[in-house]
Amino acid sequence: METFMGVPRDKIDWYPSIDYGKCNFCMECYDFCPHDVFAKTDEIKLIVKNHHHCVVFCRACSKTCNVDALSFPEKPEVIEKIKEIRKELE
Ligand code: SF4
Ligand code: SF4
Repeated sequence: METFMGVPRDKIDWYPSIDYGKCNFCMECYDFCPHDVFAKTDEIKLIVKNHHHCVVFCRACSKTCNVDALSFPEKPEVIEKIKEIRKELE
């Protein structure tokens, strides 16, 4: 099982969200990320599919987006949450 800071990766809510009001489906983020986080579908051209494949605290794909359509949670809040989960697991 993949863990991060001692917590199972799938308990950590860190992954990009796509603002469909801004996204122009240029696919730069899709082409950039090597972790199979994004997927192309027929209905919505681009989705976040494998949320927990995203590397915790990586935001690299957002730098490829010219229209600022990708957002992430606040890092300090996620760190606090990770600490809470770790305590619960002790
Ligand atoms: S933040 Fe990093 S790992 Fe996550 S989707 Fe973007 S490029 Fe991929
Ligand atoms: S890089 Fe930005 S505009 Fe291009 S597909 Fe990704 S989210 Fe949409």
